[in-house]
Amino acid sequence: MNDPIATIKRTKAIQDKYQVFTKKSYGQNFIIEPRIVEKIAEAAIADPSELVIEIGPGIGALTQQLCARSQHVIAYEIDPRMPNILQNEIQSPHLEVVLQDFLDVDVDEEIKKYRKENQPVVFTSNLPYYITTPILFKLFETKEPIERITVMMQKEVGQRFMAQPSDKEYNALSVIWQYKCDCHKVMDVSRHVFWPSPNVDSVVLQFNFHHRYHLLNESVFLSMVKGCFVQRRKTIYNNLQSYLQDKELAKTCLEKAGIALNTRAQQCALNDFIRLYEVNYESIC
Ligand code: SAM
Repeated sequence: MNDPIATIKRTKAIQDKYQVFTKKSYGQNFIIEPRIVEKIAEAAIADPSELVIEIGPGIGALTQQLCARSQHVIAYEIDPRMPNILQNEIQSPHLEVVLQDFLDVDVDEEIKKYRKENQPVVFTSNLPYYITTPILFKLFETKEPIERITVMMQKEVGQRFMAQPSDKEYNALSVIWQYKCDCHKVMDVSRHVFWPSPNVDSVVLQFNFHHRYHLLNESVFLSMVKGCFVQRRKTIYNNLQSYLQDKELAKTCLEKAGIALNTRAQQCALNDFIRLYEVNYESIC
C-alpha cells in the first residue's frame, strides 16, 4: 500500500495537486489520522472475499484501507472531482468508483449486480452528516442480504440509536434498526482527527443483521412503523388511522393487539409493533 492518505500532509498535498477544496454542502470532513481509518476498516471487513460498499469515499482516506483488506470495493461518491483522484492515488485493482448520489441508488439492484453467489455484503462509511438518517433508512429497508454496516456519524446522532421506548429520541428508525440488527459501538472519534475539523465529535457504530424476525411483506411492516410515528405529538391511534385511511379499522387493529388508543408510538417497543402487524396482517396488507 502507498503512504496513508489519512494524514494532514497527504490530504493537503492531494488538495493542492488537484486543486480540490472541501465542500461543506457535501459534508466533506476528511479523516487525517491513519489509526482511525485502519480501525474502521478492520471492524468493517471480516474476510477479504466480502463485497465492500463504501458511501462517500472523498479523497480515499478510508477507501485505501478497505482496498487493502478486500478484493472488491465499490465506492459511491456524489462529487465529480473525486473519482479521478481516487483512481490515481489509490491505484488498486480492487476498487470500483461509482459517481452517483447514494440517495438515488437502488441498493437492491446494485447488490444483485455486484454480489457473487453467497458472497457477504458489507457497507461502511464516514457518513456525510447531512444525510445520515436517510442513508441508514435506505440500508435497513434493503431486501437483499447485508451482513453488517459499520458507520461513523455525529456523536449525538449515534446516541439516538441507544434510545429506548419513552425516550425523547426514540423514533421509527429506532424500531426499524432493532427489527433488522444488533448494534454496538466500535469507538468514539474526536473532532480533531478531521480536516477541516467539524464542531462535533463522532462515533463509529456497527450494525450486524441478525435475521431474528421473518415477517411476511416486510416492507409493509416497515411503512406501518413509519406511519405510526408521522406526527410524534399525536397518539398511535391518530397516526394509524391516517396511515390506514380508516378510523374504525385503526381502532380495531389496536384493540386486537392490546394497545390502548391513547398510547403514543414512542411508548411502543419493537414487539408491540410486531404484534400489531401480525394480529392484523390480513387487514393491514
Ligand atoms: N470517506 C472520506 C473520509 O473519511 O475522509 C470522506 C468522508 S466525508 C465526511 C463524506 C463524503 O461523502 C464526501 O466525500 C462527500 O462528497 C460524499 N457525499 C456527500 N453526499 C453524498 C451522497 N449523497 N452520495 C454519495 N456521496 C456523498
